[in-house]
Amino acid sequence: MVYLDHAATTPMRQVAIDAWVEHAHAVNPGGQYGSGRAANAVLAQAREDIAELLGADPVEVVFTGSGTEADNIAVRGLYRARTKEGAPRRVVASTIEHSAVLETVKSLAQTEGAEVAWLEPDRGGHVRDLSALDDPAAVATLMWANNETGAIQPVREAAERANAAGTPLHVDAVQAVGKVEVDFHASAATTLAASAHKFGGPRGSGILLAKRSPVPLPVVLGGGQERGLRPGTVDVAAAAATAAALREALDEREAENARIAGLRDQLIERVVAAVPGTKVTATEPRLAGHAHLLFPGAEAESMLMLLDSLGVEASAGSACSAGVHRVSHVLEAMGVDARDGMGALRLTLGRTTTEEDVDTFVAHIADVIERARAAGSL
Ligand code: PLP
Repeated sequence: MVYLDHAATTPMRQVAIDAWVEHAHAVNPGGQYGSGRAANAVLAQAREDIAELLGADPVEVVFTGSGTEADNIAVRGLYRARTKEGAPRRVVASTIEHSAVLETVKSLAQTEGAEVAWLEPDRGGHVRDLSALDDPAAVATLMWANNETGAIQPVREAAERANAAGTPLHVDAVQAVGKVEVDFHASAATTLAASAHKFGGPRGSGILLAKRSPVPLPVVLGGGQERGLRPGTVDVAAAAATAAALREALDEREAENARIAGLRDQLIERVVAAVPGTKVTATEPRLAGHAHLLFPGAEAESMLMLLDSLGVEASAGSACSAGVHRVSHVLEAMGVDARDGMGALRLTLGRTTTEEDVDTFVAHIADVIERARAAGSL
């Protein structure tokens, strides 16, 4: 089997599994007794470790149930907190955000009176025109790296411009944490979302970094856990596993990035040589593991099915609803035409990817594309 979908999720690291198992018996960390205090000590250590690794203070680390949840809490919560204090009902967001952010922004427009100013990417997948950030807004949001193309966005500049207008910036760093250097304080962002399963931690474990001020209003109500931002009993084992995975991911980051980018470049070069008409989308800067390719005339569904039958697992990186395959909103925003966009393939390499995986993929791809194109022209 050749797994080329590491951006969707990556296998759990052994250190994370070990930490998870070690603390699986932890009780409620809010308990006012010995075992509760012991659980709370493990949680506090995980919080401290994550804070240190991501350039934040421990109090700024909020454990959530997913990256999606962290995005929702930050964007909706900041919008509510700021508009309550009289900020304009304006949101600035890029058109290439993950649906966790995009759907939240659209919902704010539909149900809470927000006017949205959109930041558009160029053809290489990067947002360069940040001028919409110069007018005050309740909240602005820009992802650190795009999940489809891997394109890395100018978040530091965006945060500075937003802050100059008095606007807090939320950064969805779910694809970036563990892969590029993320320092929360240096980024000047107000909130930042990460997700453990993207860097070898458990699925269902998210991180929200949130400055002391302005603080989002809670979106989910309950007990006061996690500064009231994410009420609910915290999963101590998942928090410990997340911290362990993050530490190892960052220890290996530079060497792994060099290795993975080498394999990725080799893969792209060999596919372009083997398949006529191949187009490479994102330009630099981009994540080391992302190869995002367009095969005009071939449909993603056919390509994925053929690859799957050969034991190669990849993704189209685009929306598939009710069996109808559409061009992704990211490619549409980049100005990719429909025929090219229908033939998008996202190959994401990671820690377990080997040279043999690349060889296997390259050995099959010309035949797969030829057959997918033939199926498309029927
Ligand atoms: N944001 C980005 C950029 C992502 O790639 C993902 C996951 O694919 C998410 C948010 C959602 O993260 P989670 O799967 O932890 O909810």
